[in-house]
Amino acid sequence: MNLAYQKHLTYAISKKSENKKFFEKLKKNNPTNLDKDCNRLHDEAFEVIDCLQCGNCCKTTGPLLLYKDIARLAKYLKIKPATFTENYLRIDEDKDYVFKKMPCIFLEENNCCSVYENRPNACREYPHTQQSKIIQKLKITFENTLICPAVAKVVEGLKLIYN
Ligand code: SF4
Ligand code: SF4
Repeated sequence: MNLAYQKHLTYAISKKSENKKFFEKLKKNNPTNLDKDCNRLHDEAFEVIDCLQCGNCCKTTGPLLLYKDIARLAKYLKIKPATFTENYLRIDEDKDYVFKKMPCIFLEENNCCSVYENRPNACREYPHTQQSKIIQKLKITFENTLICPAVAKVVEGLKLIYN
């Protein structure tokens, strides 16, 4: 990973308990402009962070796959959904389908996704800071500060506004 991106993660790890308290405060206060501020900070973070120089989500935390994701990927790979499931997936502790191995088997050396057009919906939605109802995504956003440098950066921005 790009060294500057690693610094965002290292910083988030060092601020883990501070961030946890911040998220508890956010949840309690439920600020009106949270979505707007978070979405703006997301756009600003991805102006300077390039996923192709990172790939950390695809290397460390795979998506969960719903049946439509499995069907789409199987069709693209020209195999049966059952074969795709058998070859690539396992059931995790929440009883969701996830990839058997990380880094993701579809991640290429240059951090491109070899099934990009057909990737699971959860991959499309990651890291969620571009979405609405952020107040319902505080737990995952906190966890993502330890995985995604862009989320770590977004949260530092949120702290400047709301702390
Ligand atoms: S399917 Fe593509 S985007 Fe999703 S984890 Fe694998 S490499 Fe990353
Ligand atoms: S979404 Fe975040 S963790 Fe994933 S590649 Fe982009 S910057 Fe890295």
